[in-house]
Amino acid sequence: MPSEVATFIPLSVPEIGGNEWKYVKDCLDTGWVSSVGSYVTQFEEMFKTRLGVASAVACANGTSAIHAALLCVGVQPGDEVITSSLTFIAPVNAIRYANAVPVLLDSRLDTWLLDEILVQAYLTERCEIRNGETFNRDTGRRVSAIVPVHLLGHPCNMDALLGLARHYNLKVVEDATESLGAFYQGQPVGTLGDAGCFSFNGNKLITTGGGGMIVTQNPELGRRAKYLTTTAKDDDIEFIHGAIGYNYRLTNLAAALGCAQMERLDEFLAKKQAIAATYDGALAAYPAIDPLPRPAGTESALWLYTIRMRGQSSRGLLKFLADNKVQSRPLWQPNHLSPAHNDLPHQPCPVAEKLNQECLSLPCSVGLSESDQNRVLRLITSYLA
Ligand SMILES: *Cc1c(COP(=O)(O)O)cnc(C)c1O
Repeated sequence: MPSEVATFIPLSVPEIGGNEWKYVKDCLDTGWVSSVGSYVTQFEEMFKTRLGVASAVACANGTSAIHAALLCVGVQPGDEVITSSLTFIAPVNAIRYANAVPVLLDSRLDTWLLDEILVQAYLTERCEIRNGETFNRDTGRRVSAIVPVHLLGHPCNMDALLGLARHYNLKVVEDATESLGAFYQGQPVGTLGDAGCFSFNGNKLITTGGGGMIVTQNPELGRRAKYLTTTAKDDDIEFIHGAIGYNYRLTNLAAALGCAQMERLDEFLAKKQAIAATYDGALAAYPAIDPLPRPAGTESALWLYTIRMRGQSSRGLLKFLADNKVQSRPLWQPNHLSPAHNDLPHQPCPVAEKLNQECLSLPCSVGLSESDQNRVLRLITSYLA
């Protein structure tokens, strides 16, 4: 291989190059730095317009957004909440913050997303409907919600999941934290369920440093979300709090970053498409490599470009890339195996375990240069040869 200047290529880093400095400076100059301010309102308005929703409530991060959304849709302590085992840990943690019991189900091998057939089997075989509510026959627990996690930018099969939710009277809180900009049958992801949650962590498509958003078509639910995330304050002067709320609001400083990032969302999405197309094209020659799946009827946001090395562990390639200063990452440890959650009763999840072993996310920052992407591809092809 010709000698190359081996600079480090990270997996996914923020792209800061628009109005971020200007808007943050405005916060500093005016003193509006905390959890009230015009940028918070503007950031929420931008989400409402972009997604066409009734309410958008900015939160401290994506995890707090999911926690608050679960409480707002009515998840009660002791309830069961269905989600996928194969996900970043945040939604499973959030279910437990609500003192509910995560039911971790396996993923589909073709889409890598929550397997709706297993959700259906769980509900039909293990549960029964009593007085309009669904109960697990064995545990006696109420089943109150599904949290579909739209992993890596791909929408879950929402037709199937929403159909089951309607039949079993379950609420749906979409974890759309990895999927801002994705569409399911023409509808923005995050707007299909009762509530949808986004994240603006540093490695997400747009970032506020740390931040999150709850969106909903239900204005009453939106009001509840704002109330609960603002310490449930009923009276601004006397500080009367109607419930045990949370200090989960986003700061104006962070929202200023978010407004600047949102202005460039389409540009960022286009860049992710271009990066994915280059990877897809170059790796098509390798039959043992499955490219990132594109579920039918969906438009993926292509957040983290990920390959599956069919029948092979991805860790050899991970190490080879790391030795050559290229960062890559396997898919998360399935939560049924996590030391944090392996106390939960769970079903076998062989697909999640397989995908954890065989998948690898490749560098795909919005600012990734063509020459850096080519270096990654040269390394991958030399490893496979
Ligand atoms: C990023 C992410 C979240 C939220 O993360 P925060 O760091 O709390 O913003 C939730 N779920 C998934 C699947 C994620 O990837």
